[in-house]
Amino acid sequence: MTDIKPPVTTTDAGIPAASDHHSQTLGPDGPILLQDHYVIQKMAHFNRERVPERVVHAKGTGAFGSFETTEDISEFTKADLFQPGRKTEMMARISTVAGEQGSPDTWRDPRGWALKFYTEEGNYDLVGNNTPVFFIRDPQNFSDFIHSQKRRAESGLRDNNMQWDFWSSKPESAHMVTWLMGDRGIPKTLRNMDGFSSHTYLWENAAGVKHWVKYHFKTDQGIEFLTQADADRIAGEDADYHRRDLFENIKAGNGPTWTLSVQLMPIADAADYRFNPFDLTKVWPHADYPLIKVGRMRLDRNPENFFAQIEQAALEPANLVPGIGPSPDKMLQGRLFSYPDTHRYRIGPNYLQLPVNQPKAGVHSYNRDGHMAFINGGDPNYAPNSYGGPVADPSVELPTWQVEAGEIVRNAYTLHSEDDDFGQPGTLYRKVLDDAARARLVSNISGHLSNGVVEPVLSRALTYWHNVDADLGARIAAKLGVTEAASSAA
Ligand code: NDP
Repeated sequence: MTDIKPPVTTTDAGIPAASDHHSQTLGPDGPILLQDHYVIQKMAHFNRERVPERVVHAKGTGAFGSFETTEDISEFTKADLFQPGRKTEMMARISTVAGEQGSPDTWRDPRGWALKFYTEEGNYDLVGNNTPVFFIRDPQNFSDFIHSQKRRAESGLRDNNMQWDFWSSKPESAHMVTWLMGDRGIPKTLRNMDGFSSHTYLWENAAGVKHWVKYHFKTDQGIEFLTQADADRIAGEDADYHRRDLFENIKAGNGPTWTLSVQLMPIADAADYRFNPFDLTKVWPHADYPLIKVGRMRLDRNPENFFAQIEQAALEPANLVPGIGPSPDKMLQGRLFSYPDTHRYRIGPNYLQLPVNQPKAGVHSYNRDGHMAFINGGDPNYAPNSYGGPVADPSVELPTWQVEAGEIVRNAYTLHSEDDDFGQPGTLYRKVLDDAARARLVSNISGHLSNGVVEPVLSRALTYWHNVDADLGARIAAKLGVTEAASSAA
């Protein structure tokens, strides 16, 4: 027990409260009085405690830390945070994709990998996954894809048949689904997985030389995974298994680190590379574009308030800093719009004024007002002006690329000769996985398919796996008790 006297409770307007226990009534048995503003304020505020959960990536966790550029890669980008020796404060939010806020951390799902760097040049955000690829390559499909992974409109139930209906109708998903159904589809902890930019970006150095770039954050804790059986058991025992592990490890001084390397493609290579390098369903083989080390990211500080610092964290790939630009990756182009748009809806138009989202660099904008505008500039509130308002600087334009003007089309990913959807997942199955990992992949896929997937979706799914690899297709068909001929002919 301490002798320190606690402060008197107040209303949110700072007025001392007379009781934390009893409402004001007309006599001991009479009705509660509307004039008891304190109890009304408590109940009304409680009713408004939740902001809408994210439609995608609702269940997540996060922490703070730093990124240090340990190598000299200034010949590739002039971005301040990637200059040699620079150490930048940052935060990370790591999440599942399809589950709601209370869903188990160990469900099979990709993990979102969202990083915010508080750089000297404003906030730099990266919004990727723990996978180098994604299910689709055009934002036109995004809401349909997410609907198919979440809940049936009719029953509100998750439905494997709906998931496979979408996947098997979109061969471009095969690489990501192979990855997801493999060992890395359920990391043991968030400390034991890699993170990727997934998207391609454009880097420019001080002399104007440009490279396309992909980021790979490799875990320094080593890759570890959960089997389907262990993940199912843990989902029942502790739905917050990954969140708890990260929080407790950081609290114990055992914060995780990741080594960042990049793949760099000279800007001119893209035009005649053998497949479209901006297609988010494909990786750049390491043999063509080896990893180049950049630095190390460390998470070593837990939030003090989960809601304020993690739930209200707003990350958006549109936050790019000088020296780093977007690319023709169509999923990235769609996300440049959709992330800030969802924050405006979910948290409000002034979400960037919240402490976790506020840049450490100063803000000098002409935006004003709106809900909760508590940092609101004065005069002048228009540009151009004659009264000393901020002036834009053409030299900070983000890197751009040349586009050959042509007809407006909807088929921009058909221009390269080797753009097939089954090649890279086939390589993953045949060349990267060992025998034991292949056996677990077969078991995970057949287990998922045997849980509610019906015709015509089942036959189409079997053809899909046959197309990834004939041996894989045959093994899945055998596990399901279907003949290979039936599956490949389907
Ligand atoms: P490499 O042999 O140079 O690299 C293989 C990659 O596969 C490594 O990044 C490795 O990660 C990763 N990997 C190992 N086991 C698994 C697994 N169970 N699930 C998912 N990824 C795994 O090959 P290439 O660059 O030529 O690519 C071959 C295939 O590897 C690709 O088709 C793709 O499916 C997969 N891959 C490629 C990546 C790339 O950026 N090139 C990145 C990730 C996967 P680690 O070093 O951590 O073991």
